[in-house]
Amino acid sequence: MASIDIIKDKCVGCRRCVGACPFGAIEIVEKKAAIKDACTLCGSCVESCKFNAINFARDETVKHDLSEYKGIWVFAEQRYGKLKTVSLELLGKAGELSAQLNVSVTAILLGHGIDNLADELIACGADEVLLMDDDRLNDFNDHVYGEAIIDLIGEYKPEIVLVGATSKGRSLAPHISSALKTGLTADCTALGIDIESKLLVQTRPAFGGNLMAEIICPNNRPQMATVRPKVFKPLEPDYNRKGKITKIKKQPAEGLVKLVRNIDNAEGLTLSDAEIIVSVGRGMGSAKNIRLAKELADVLGGALGSSRPVVDMGWMPYSQQVGQTGKTVAPKIYIACGISGAIQHLAGLADIDTIIAVNQDPDAPIFKVADYGIVGDVNEILPALIEKLKKSAK
Ligand SMILES: Cc1cc2nc3c(=O)[nH]c(=O)nc-3n(C[C@H](O)[C@H](O)[C@H](O)COP(=O)(O)OP(=O)(O)OC[C@H]3O[C@@H](n4cnc5c(N)ncnc54)[C@H](O)[C@@H]3O)c2cc1C
Ligand code: SF4
Ligand code: SF4
Repeated sequence: MASIDIIKDKCVGCRRCVGACPFGAIEIVEKKAAIKDACTLCGSCVESCKFNAINFARDETVKHDLSEYKGIWVFAEQRYGKLKTVSLELLGKAGELSAQLNVSVTAILLGHGIDNLADELIACGADEVLLMDDDRLNDFNDHVYGEAIIDLIGEYKPEIVLVGATSKGRSLAPHISSALKTGLTADCTALGIDIESKLLVQTRPAFGGNLMAEIICPNNRPQMATVRPKVFKPLEPDYNRKGKITKIKKQPAEGLVKLVRNIDNAEGLTLSDAEIIVSVGRGMGSAKNIRLAKELADVLGGALGSSRPVVDMGWMPYSQQVGQTGKTVAPKIYIACGISGAIQHLAGLADIDTIIAVNQDPDAPIFKVADYGIVGDVNEILPALIEKLKKSAK
């Protein structure tokens, strides 16, 4: 761990460091700077002190031989023998990155009775599939999966590991990165390669989505990132593509927890699969009024999404939240009903063909991104739309 303390004899209480700390972690107590618990040991304040009164010590970093690490890995997440689309999206992106690094793309496929998925991974961009098939891998368990992948990383030494930011990926990736003491950037919205350093540039929203941060991991390997579904596009599968399938014979570790039962709460069309999403915001006025949006979604054969306040108020489940802290969606049509269009909500809209907004405020920010805008009360507009659509379907 790094450490920080104030050399009281040198501190003159000038307050420069207070303004320099992005976390509000410095206060002046009795004319001397004092570090509060909110300190994240980021080191940003050190330079601001002209009196050398901030003593900041970093740990000696263990130097790895980075040249040993080659290639890009993608965790091929599967459930009930079906690959998650996000893994295929990551394979497509990994292909682009690998061309810049002149390395190969490897898919890591773990499970039981899933050999058949290896061909699909190759068709979608993997040059090699590391396949580990064992009944201990039948159900996802972050410890069992994590330890198996840590072991493989130690043996094969990939320079980059990409994981889908699904609920499983979000628990697996930190397990691996913390064990390997390497960096992990969660929920990236873009990935690239810095031409000079050949490092992975991981872009993600920071400070409440108000700016985009580009993050690199220069000293440790592998460089790890999670990416939400729908951020990248999968390649068209090409079953003539050739690749290598390597079966790993090792037995995975035993799980620390025992799975008693699986309860699948996925109901109907999911946001990730829907081509049309009708999304509700606070402007719907009440939980009861959401039935209007549901009816519109049903008439259009779409799914129901929502903004965060609607989830916070308990009108909709979290699984339907769109945005920075919810899901990223990419339907063909997105109908925003009573949604203002805050930046954190728009962060969840990726590559949508047509955005339609219904809002009673003509100055609502959602109209700046909408292809079609209807200014009016959702309680009048939605029933009129439903009626019209029902009539035209007859
Ligand atoms: C770190 C962070 C993460 C966040 N993550 C997310 C996220 O993932 N997803 C998300 O959505 N938000 C997120 N937010 C919240 C975000 O900043 C906004 O507060 C939120 O998106 C606003 O939701 P809303 O549009 O439903 O509500 P409001 O901003 O209150 O907008 C309601 C809109 O409805 C309109 N309206 C009112 N009555 C009617 C009517 N009868 N008919 C038609 N229109 C009407 C109003 O004109 C208004 O434009 C996050 C915020 C932070 C700080
Ligand atoms: S900038 Fe230095 S001298 Fe000024 S208050 Fe902070 S620690 Fe003290
Ligand atoms: S190390 Fe970072 S978080 Fe801690 S006091 Fe300095 S600027 Fe603030």
